[in-house]
Amino acid sequence: VSELLADLEAVSRFGGEGSGVTRLAWTPELFAAYDYVGARLEELGLEVEVDPAGNLVGRWHVGSGPPIAVGSHLDSVVAGGRFDGTLGVLAGVHAIRLLRRRGFVPGRPLWVISFMDEEGARFGGSCFGSGAFAGRDLSGLEAETDRDGVTLREAMGRAGFDLDRVPEAKRVDELGAYLELHVEQGPVLERAGTDIGVVTGIVGGAAFRVRFTGTPGHAGTTPMELRRDAFAGAARAALALRDRALSSGEITVNVGEVSVEPGGASTIPGAAELTVDIRSLRRFAELETIVREALETVAREERLELGVERLYSIPPCELDEALVETIERAAGDEGATHMRMVSGSGHDAMELGRRVPAGMLFVPSRGGFGHSPDEHTEPERCELGARVLARGLQLVAE
Ligand SMILES: [Zn+2]
Repeated sequence: VSELLADLEAVSRFGGEGSGVTRLAWTPELFAAYDYVGARLEELGLEVEVDPAGNLVGRWHVGSGPPIAVGSHLDSVVAGGRFDGTLGVLAGVHAIRLLRRRGFVPGRPLWVISFMDEEGARFGGSCFGSGAFAGRDLSGLEAETDRDGVTLREAMGRAGFDLDRVPEAKRVDELGAYLELHVEQGPVLERAGTDIGVVTGIVGGAAFRVRFTGTPGHAGTTPMELRRDAFAGAARAALALRDRALSSGEITVNVGEVSVEPGGASTIPGAAELTVDIRSLRRFAELETIVREALETVAREERLELGVERLYSIPPCELDEALVETIERAAGDEGATHMRMVSGSGHDAMELGRRVPAGMLFVPSRGGFGHSPDEHTEPERCELGARVLARGLQLVAE
């Protein structure tokens, strides 16, 4: 077993007692993983610290000029997989190992970073650590609580951190470039039989909570043409948005929660609530209009009242074209097949990519599983990804 696979196996035990891996932000399980990874980085001669935002940072003090960072995250969702984030961090460690072994001396300092709480699975608000590193104001999360009623401030305090000091973690302006390897968490690469996805951009998106209000009534005595059935409106809206996304080819949309009031097999739904999650890289600016127009059309035709609340809106992030080409070249040098693709989910690279040139590569996810104990990437694909990452670092840091 190679060192990369041994590391993956070792780290998967931290928080891996139950079904899948549960390694939430600021927990002893996560810090145990930090200790393991930190020890590997120190063996490779890197100086290791945990910054005030809880990011594990290893620095290879070598060369001169702005450092090149490679990173991802070691935290997980509840009952997540072994690969999401973790493979990216460990591939970064392994890339340094390969460069050391080859006797490559970088012309620039190299940093390996595991960002705190990418998933936001404990307190909400994803990309805490990379956000702090990139200078985002996170003080608004102060009063967020986990499922045990512990606030973020308290959780940080118990782990020896102070929320007020998080702004000190802003180091993005020192970097020259950022690279991240991640599992795809989707089926595209596996279907195409391709080794490496070269990510050109990360979608932006918005989410909405929608409420249609009609008139409840008796399911048998109210004539069909007189009904104001809120669920019929919700169902039509979901289909209209799906069709719109299908015909565009570059938008995804999801209606993931639906509830009906008052609820009852013989009662016409008087109200229906649904959530809409919509994402795109190039058509981000149109997304809100697309959602509102679809909903308003349905509301008008079904004679329903409509309420729309926007839950969040996050702009997309185009990755650096020069780094896209570098990763393609690195993949070619390592004999890996590759294709360009868009990331449909957010990553730490999105926070950094707004401030420094960032590049990202995906390795295939078996069955397309993500955020699931079924997550899997074939060992050869993990190792090939790490070699491409190492070659990419070499090309950037020469
Ligand atoms: Zn991830």
